[in-house]
Amino acid sequence: MLKLQHSVSRALLALSPLARRQRLSILIYHRVIRERDPMRPEVPTVDEFAWQMQLLQQHFTVLPLREAVQRLKQNRLPPRAVCVTFDDGYADTATVALPVLQRFGIPVTVFVAAAFLNGGRMWNDTVVESLRRHKGGELDLSALGLPVYPINSVASRTSAAYDIQQRSKRLQTAQRKEVTDCIASRSDSLPDDLMLTTGQLTMLHEQGVEIGGHTYSHPILNRLTPAQAQEEIQQGKIALEEIIGQPLNLFAYPNGRPGIDYNDSHVELVKRAGFNAAVATSWGVAGPRSDHFQLPRFTPWDKTASRFLLRMVLNSRHLAEPGTEATETPETSQ
Ligand SMILES: [Zn+2]
Repeated sequence: MLKLQHSVSRALLALSPLARRQRLSILIYHRVIRERDPMRPEVPTVDEFAWQMQLLQQHFTVLPLREAVQRLKQNRLPPRAVCVTFDDGYADTATVALPVLQRFGIPVTVFVAAAFLNGGRMWNDTVVESLRRHKGGELDLSALGLPVYPINSVASRTSAAYDIQQRSKRLQTAQRKEVTDCIASRSDSLPDDLMLTTGQLTMLHEQGVEIGGHTYSHPILNRLTPAQAQEEIQQGKIALEEIIGQPLNLFAYPNGRPGIDYNDSHVELVKRAGFNAAVATSWGVAGPRSDHFQLPRFTPWDKTASRFLLRMVLNSRHLAEPGTEATETPETSQ
């Protein structure tokens, strides 16, 4: 059965636009965890990640992103070219994902928001981890204009965390901090080891992982003044370069939806900061005429091998070039 599925998959790939040269698929991951987390069912486990990397190794040519961009510019991409990227700089990129990537010989680029290194926590993780540790009963956020959430099961914790994130993501940073500080104050001992340490970052770099910029503190660039946006892009780059001792080449826009999370002025700032290419989160594959500073990426979320491959094929039908329609990523991406 598995063999049949694989031959069907091979046939699909052979007939898809991916079989042509000059199509580049770029995958986004954020985290890989050891066991299924009921509060984060979308996060791949190490077993799922392993079969996904095995599929890439079997059916695709996986390239380092920097090399793939060079080849795209020179019209020298192999058929079924693919790149793997991780965003944000979670510790499990180093502790869980890297051993799998190395087992299958898969190169990877990791885009790091420098402010969270060494014990930092992104606001959405503060929400989830606070709800996970809440002592139960109810979480009354009415003073902040939010609901009173019943907390009596994993499902209620998960749905409260989801609802709070949905409501908070549109708030200004200061307001959102008020909400997350309040929620965090109702729970004990939140984790301070979710993100990479400088030691882990250095180890990734020394193991040949390409480190890319992702701003300093992961703001939505479109909500900043031009001066703030420039500062975020540059500060993030300088902080990482000081740690790895090498210039950064690649950048990923936080959240990454063109026109929504960032605009053309930010593309210019990224160029001026000295980056050589950048990735967004619009879906599709890059082609020879794609903007090298807004390369499309997509998140593989399927739980079976055949669906994963089918998703790669479907995604490849969106060629992200001028004159073609960009497809938006779901809002869950960061
Ligand atoms: Zn991010």
